[in-house]
Amino acid sequence: MTLAERWRAARPPAAGVHVDSAACSRQSFASIDAATQHARHEAEVGGYVAAEAAAPALDAGRAAIRALTGMEDAEVLFTTGSSHALDVLLSSWSGERTAACLPGEYGPNLMALAHHGFDVRELPVDGFGRLDLDALGTVLATDPPALVHFTVLGSHSGIVQPAHDIASACRAHGIPLIVDAAQGFAHLDCSAIGADAVYSSSRKWTAGPRGVGMLATRSDLVSDVARLRLTHGETNVGLHLGLSVALGEHLAAGPDAVQARLREVGAATRTALADVAGWRVWEPVEEPSAITTLHPPDGVDPMSVRARLIAEHSIVTTYLATERAPKEMTRPALRISPHVDVTDTDLETLADALTAVTR
Ligand SMILES: *Cc1c(COP(=O)(O)O)cnc(C)c1O
Repeated sequence: MTLAERWRAARPPAAGVHVDSAACSRQSFASIDAATQHARHEAEVGGYVAAEAAAPALDAGRAAIRALTGMEDAEVLFTTGSSHALDVLLSSWSGERTAACLPGEYGPNLMALAHHGFDVRELPVDGFGRLDLDALGTVLATDPPALVHFTVLGSHSGIVQPAHDIASACRAHGIPLIVDAAQGFAHLDCSAIGADAVYSSSRKWTAGPRGVGMLATRSDLVSDVARLRLTHGETNVGLHLGLSVALGEHLAAGPDAVQARLREVGAATRTALADVAGWRVWEPVEEPSAITTLHPPDGVDPMSVRARLIAEHSIVTTYLATERAPKEMTRPALRISPHVDVTDTDLETLADALTAVTR
């Protein structure tokens, strides 16, 4: 069996075509079962006793996160998602409140930065919104921010950002770097970034359960009170187990093999959708990610297109409102984000359906 076939066989069959992994992937039987079994175990032996029994499996999950971020000495904390992880870091921050981000920064992250009193300035980019490495040095040297917050792969675009380069530049200028890997983790190689903190969500490319996230960080970036809330506050242990199982499956599949297949999927998706009348694929065909952004023809509303694709064709995609990246998006778009198991037939079905609902 190929990686794609194994991935597909490991989970319940999709009711239609699911090309929405950047929003929420499909969980495996093993991940679903881990959370379910834990709930049963809680009922049998008591919630706190069951949590003790789950500790080794959760440690394995944390070890997987350290391996996948290449942060061997990092403290790893389970959160409820990426936004929660960022909130933990920002509320713990004791330095000056200035930060630099890409113009394509995720809208809710910008809101969190503003909420925590950060003054945000923009990192230089090219026409694709990709970090401009030539201009970066000057920007960081002239008016250095206290913190760089860098989203390695956006929610609104499949353009892969040079995380390793920003990390080198930050290190050279002594600026701490926080990386939002909500879309990058278990999708791109995040094992050699060299950031001070990396966070992600379980439900996206890792294909774990919803309602969970992870933070790998230098310990001094998390305040005692924030840590106490995370480690002793109320939490859904079963979901942490589900995530740990999904991480184990990802490691077993081989992160390199998954990344290579996702690059192939991105190129196949952009090729299959290149000729759908009126729609424009934003990313270069060979952009090394599995996220494809489609800009609609004039007068076509991608929100209703998404709804009709579900209702009339059982195809799940994402509607991208401009709030996702308010400083970069000028109009709404449609996002296509298949996982490793997408087939040529799925992509043809999608192209035909898109043509049908656009007419
Ligand atoms: C989804 C997403 C988030 C938020 O993740 P949650 O787990 O929903 O909090 C943050 N940043 C990016 C780039 C995302 O795609």
